[in-house]
Amino acid sequence: MIEDGKVVSVHYTLKNDAGEEIDASGDAPLAYLHGAHNIVPGLERKLSGRKVGDKLDVVVDPGDGYGMRDPRAVQDVPRTAFPPDAPLEVGASFVVETPTGELMQLHVTAITKGADGVDMIRCDANHPLAGERLHFAVEIVDVRDATDEERVHGHVHGEGGHHH
Ligand code: ZN
Repeated sequence: MIEDGKVVSVHYTLKNDAGEEIDASGDAPLAYLHGAHNIVPGLERKLSGRKVGDKLDVVVDPGDGYGMRDPRAVQDVPRTAFPPDAPLEVGASFVVETPTGELMQLHVTAITKGADGVDMIRCDANHPLAGERLHFAVEIVDVRDATDEERVHGHVHGEGGHHH
């Protein structure tokens, strides 16, 4: 049965409200450590107490998923503020260090022309799925005890997990 400290392997598809597939497990299932916040809270909660072979559809509201969109996390930055060879295009993402030393992932969501003809790069720190209701279809294919090392690291090692 799925509970904290178990390594759970699932096949899943993720769709948005429009029914478009956003993500899915490939040939190999995704393995995650239950109770370690490896997956969004709304999905993790629904998987508690389930067992191998269970199939379930789970709808996760943004607050239990990737959060609400924060309009203040969007900023237009002149192209000239980036290194000339930075590969900036819509859909690109990169990591910056904030003044307080935290790492933040930014996504380029638009490129517009500023008043003086300079390209403006729209940098969005929101998760790409922030504000989206998430529709998961999940099949549980394996449940096992986590190793001590996995518990300490807070993630799964080996097949379907981290390699390091
Ligand atoms: Zn590890």
